Amino acid sequence: MVISDKLQALAAEAEVALREKFDYFDKISFENTKRVLNAFSEERVAEAMFAGSCGYGYDDRGRDTLDRIYAKVFNKEAALVRHTLISGTHTLSTGLFGLLRPGDTLLSVTGKPYDTLDEVIGIKDDGNNNGSLKDFGIIYKQIDLTADGKIDINKVVETLKQETVKVVYIQRSKGYLDRPTLSVAEMNELYRAVKEVSDSYVFIDNCYGEFVETSEPDADVIAGSLIKNPGGGMAETGGYLAGSAKAIELISYRLTSVGIGSEAGCTLNTLKSMYKGFFYAPHTVAQALKTAAFAAYIFEKLGFYTNPKWNDDRYDIIQAIHMMDGDKLCAFCRGIQAGSPVDAFVTPEPWDMPGYSDAVIMAAGTFTQGASIELSADGPMKEPYIAYFQGGLTYESGKLGILYAASQVLN
Ligand SMILES: *Cc1c(COP(=O)(O)O)cnc(C)c1O
Repeated sequence: MVISDKLQALAAEAEVALREKFDYFDKISFENTKRVLNAFSEERVAEAMFAGSCGYGYDDRGRDTLDRIYAKVFNKEAALVRHTLISGTHTLSTGLFGLLRPGDTLLSVTGKPYDTLDEVIGIKDDGNNNGSLKDFGIIYKQIDLTADGKIDINKVVETLKQETVKVVYIQRSKGYLDRPTLSVAEMNELYRAVKEVSDSYVFIDNCYGEFVETSEPDADVIAGSLIKNPGGGMAETGGYLAGSAKAIELISYRLTSVGIGSEAGCTLNTLKSMYKGFFYAPHTVAQALKTAAFAAYIFEKLGFYTNPKWNDDRYDIIQAIHMMDGDKLCAFCRGIQAGSPVDAFVTPEPWDMPGYSDAVIMAAGTFTQGASIELSADGPMKEPYIAYFQGGLTYESGKLGILYAASQVLN
């Protein structure tokens, strides 16, 4: 792969312009590392905790301690961190089924949730008795974001005054939508407003947001995937839920079974990478943020629309770039793939992924399959052909990936 002189000059210009941003990301990473290290120290993490359990997994100190560490760092009463949560979608689904009962209402206040939840909720239910929330008699409603991408707090409060809602659902990150990502401050404001008028659970899809700010949002439940931010690029699979003791207990009954909850569930050989990943996560997230800001700078200067802009505040690790053309989107993904440590020789093609409504093209030359804290890009094959880019275990490799992607697009 050759990077033209013009692109190399642009990269040098970008790094000068981004110096203050990069310092800021490092500062956030330092603060978050301090919080993680304090929790490790207070919980007396020791080598024996990494051994893992088998069978029922009773008295697994490594598992129970990691749960407390997540709870502490995310400022919650309790947490569940499990390799048996196979993905973000499975984790969110487990949380929702844990809290909702027949006749209850689930109210999304950030518009339509992430595509893979359509089937979990039953938004696309074809009435085939498949066990979706809808199939279990749970009513789904949504309030869209305002035109400028904010939560419509007045409308949420009015709705909660008029009807009983069990779960108020927030998606923090933009996902595959072209809207701003919510800040922790904005979500905290909603949390306070909800608690003033109702006893609904506030449930946050926290995917891609962890460690981007120096605290996580207030909520009854926050949930995410360990092959994104909090796994630090080390956890090989898994998900977490953190929140109030009551909500997490209910969810633990869905995760395993009523009566067993979080007291069993063996960890096999997964604990060390989850601990190590959580330790690395603040740093890894900073690498991803630097890569995203760098990508925004390069592509803005090449004339593309980006969200966020290179000098905007960032609230998740996702960078959207409007490629405006299917061939350019594919070229972008080919460049990212070519700049990956694994499968660099592979050519990505669009395909119909389970759970997604449009064909999606993905670039992911990752050590862990599908890990989007690692350098990866994906985009649905529809107007305006947005490349959603995220990750980069190291800024150096992320920067190379972006420059390869730019080279492919320019050719
Ligand atoms: C990734 C993601 C999910 C789903 O996670 P999977 O691991 O892909 O199932 C849900 N919501 C958001 C905002 C995400 O970014």
